[in-house]
This record gives sequence, C-alpha cells and structure tokens, in this order.
Amino acid sequence: MPSNEPKLTVVGAGLVGSLLSLYLARRGHTVEVLERRPDMRRETLDAGRSINLAISTRGLHALRQVGLEEEALKHAIPMRGRVIHPVKGELAYQPYGKDDSQHINSLSRGWLNQFLMTQAEATGRVSIRFRQRVTQADVSAGTLTVLDETTGETREVRDTVVFGTDGSGSAVRQALQPQATQEPLGHGYKELTIPPGPGGSFQMEKHALHIWPRGAFMLIALPNEDGSFTCTLFLPWKGPLSFASLETPAALEAFFQEQFPDAKALIPGLVEEFFARPTGHMVTVKCAPWRVGGRTLLLGDAAHAMVPFYGQGMNCGFEDCVVLDALLAKQQDWEAAFQTFEALRKTNADAIADMAVENFIEMRDSTGDPRFLLEKGVEKVLLNAFPGEFVSRYSLVSFSRVPYRLAYEVGVIAGGIVAELSQGLKRPEDVDLDAAAKLIRGRLTPFMKEH
Ligand code: FAD
Repeated sequence: MPSNEPKLTVVGAGLVGSLLSLYLARRGHTVEVLERRPDMRRETLDAGRSINLAISTRGLHALRQVGLEEEALKHAIPMRGRVIHPVKGELAYQPYGKDDSQHINSLSRGWLNQFLMTQAEATGRVSIRFRQRVTQADVSAGTLTVLDETTGETREVRDTVVFGTDGSGSAVRQALQPQATQEPLGHGYKELTIPPGPGGSFQMEKHALHIWPRGAFMLIALPNEDGSFTCTLFLPWKGPLSFASLETPAALEAFFQEQFPDAKALIPGLVEEFFARPTGHMVTVKCAPWRVGGRTLLLGDAAHAMVPFYGQGMNCGFEDCVVLDALLAKQQDWEAAFQTFEALRKTNADAIADMAVENFIEMRDSTGDPRFLLEKGVEKVLLNAFPGEFVSRYSLVSFSRVPYRLAYEVGVIAGGIVAELSQGLKRPEDVDLDAAAKLIRGRLTPFMKEH
C-alpha cells in the first residue's frame, strides 16, 4: 500500500467510480465517494445515458478480478452477432467472432451501477455520499469544494487524493485544466422501446445486436432481460433528415415508415417516447495530463470519453481500474503509480477513441454494403482457418485484452489482407487459402512477433 496515504476521495459513483472504489478498498484503503445524483437504489432516476450497454472481455475481466463476473453474467444476454435490417428484403446475420463462444453481452446499466455500489459498500471501507456535487477542485493541494444538494451548504474536503471519475463533463478535469480537445459528434441519440411480446417473449432475435444501417444515420437495438429491446436512434442534429427535421408526430411517423418499417411496427410508444425523452449528446474527449503529482488522477470518461460505436467506453474505464490496481500492487507511492498509469493508458485510450469514430462509419454505412458483408465473411473464414495466426481488429478489441493501440495497428494490416483477398471474389468460402497463408505469414505474423 502506498505509504504516504491521506484520505482518498473518488468523485462520481458511476460505473467506473463505483468499481474503482471497490478495487481501492480491496487494497486496504478507506474511500469516500462523492456522487451528485441521489441514490438510484432508493429513488427512480431518469435513465440518463443508455439503458443497456455491451460488456465484453475487458470489462468482464475487470469484474472477474474482484469476484463479480459470475453474478453480472447471470443478468447479461449474450449477443453473438449483428442482425442487419434493410429497408426491404431479408435480414442478414454477421457473427461477431470465429464461433458462438466469442460474443458480447447486453447488460442493464442501472443494474450494473447499483450492483457495483452495493458491492463497494459491502467491503466496509467505502462510503458513498449522494447529492454531493463537486463544484471546484484545487488539484495540487487535494482540496475539493462540495455542494451538498440536500442542504444547499458548501464545504471543503482537504488533503485528499482525488480520483476524478465524474464522467465526460468532469469538474475535476476542468480544474486540472489539461490540454483538452472535445470533439462533439454531429449526431445525437434518442432511446426508444420495443416492448416484450406475449409472455415476456422477444419480438426479434434475442442473441444479437440489431442494426438498421442507413448511411448518414442508423437505428440499433439491444435485448433486455425482460424480453424488451432498447433501440437507439443516431441521427444528425441538423439537416434534411435530422432531429431538427422531426418536429411533429406526423414527420416522425413518416420517417420511421420510410426508413425503419419493421421497427416501427414494434415500437408502439414511438411518438410519445420520442418527444418525451431527451436527445443525448456524444463527445470524444482527449486530454493530457490526466494527473497532478500523486494528488489527482482522472479515469474513465473523465479522462477519455469516446463515442459509443465500439461499445468500449465502460470496458476501457474498467480496464483503467485493472491497470491502476496492478500498479498500486507494485509501486509504493501514488505519484509513481499515477505517472506510469498515464503513460500506459493514454495512447490506448486515444486508439480506442479513434476506432470508435471509425466504427460509426462502418455501422451506419457499410454494414448494409455487399462488399463489406463479403469482407466480413472472408474475415470469419480466415479466423477459423488460421486460428492464433489471423486476428481481426474487432476480435482483438472485443475478445482479447491486448492493448488497444496494438489492436488498432493490427487492424490496419489485417484489414489490408482481407481487402486484397476479397478482390474479385463472389463468396467468402471461395477465398484462396494459400494466398491467405502467404499474406498472413508475410505481414501479420512478423508484426505480431515484434510486439
Ligand atoms: P459516468 O458513467 O458518466 O459516471 C460519472 C458519474 O459522476 C455520474 O454518476 C455522475 O452523476 C457523477 N458526477 C458527474 N459530475 C459530478 C460532480 N461534479 N460531482 C459529483 N459527481 C459527479 N460503453 C461500453 O463499454 N459499452 C457500451 O455498449 C456502451 N454504450 C453506450 C451507449 C451510449 C448511448 C453512450 C452515451 C455511452 C455508451 N458507453 C458504452 C460508454 C459508457 O456509458 C461510459 O464509458 C461509462 O458510463 C463511463 O463511466 P464513468 O463512470 O467514467 O462515467
């Protein structure tokens, strides 16, 4: 345990802050968590961001380290591939991995957050204080100004090590004043519900992530435990087909009828939900530094918010907890641990943030494109024909824990090989495996060996 330990304060009891406080407690520290919202276990809150999310290998590994994976998986629905919904015609299925064992999991955000808070408190070393908004921070001194939103009183927490896990709009980050770029996406999002069918049945394939790719915009749906699906519409803010253009129920219904007729038939509350629910913003935050000495450290979205199209924001934040914990196990002081943490994580967070933006284009656009479908098919053939030798970017990001930066670089090489082998091909199964072996062993294997 670091020897010079003052108080530890985690700002934000979201997904990452709750898990981090648990990790710190298991290392023997006493932790106070300050959360601006009320306790969601006692009060029903506005769902806020996404009702469910996808957890994959990195996030599950982080839960496993603290003995929580098994319970989480009991509430998760495996999603083994994507089901693509064209405007007209047949649905297409694209498996995510080489076989069904490689899948991602749909999990309720609210359930997971509550579960993590309860588990953190159960250590006896974590106290979460709700309706406590950090309004200012002196990050070098370790002083936080906190507004108690129940009493309206302001107080100071002094001489503390601060972990800023207060999300993409982080107050701690603002106080740190790092060099920050914030790239808002030109799209917003809106959540809609496909209710369960009779007897809690699923009205579409349960074990899949559903996508309606439409070029400049798209709809997706993830399954929930109760048989419902949460749909998310990603649409430009402005322009001819945009949130700005859907101002009336008639315009909304006509848009859905034209673009997503099968989904429209399954969303009875379309108009009501669309106009009642907030439209969410998405942003990429890249900033540095993430820390001040051994006093303050940013983790999770506060350090590296990303757009949600790789389903990795939380997974990456959970991986932050694993990496920091491993460093604390070895290093005797906070400053050294924080420094190494930033050196290890920053490049990887930047890589996944970039891949998330690229995946938006793939999801909304290319998943409906025959060439893309062919290349995905070839990728699957190669994954099975060259196990351990051929790896795709998606599989490295979602089904392994290799650094995101490496996944990014491998993706460039693997993508090039697939594109080359797909030239002039009609069916994925006709791919020339001899040529594939040469390309993989000539380009990918040496790169993997080097790293
Ligand atoms: P947050 O979840 O934002 O939590 C921050 C906490 O800090 C909140 O509880 C907040 O109330 C509190 N807080 C904020 N300011 C203060 C303050 N001043 N004082 C005190 N408390 C404060 N990720 C995935 O891995 N898989 C997915 O499938 C996925 N899907 C997504 C879909 C959408 C539409 C969006 C928007 C995101 C998605 N993400 C996904 C990303 C994921 O939601 C985030 O990466 C994750 O929530 C980050 O957790 P966090 O704890 O860092 O931040």
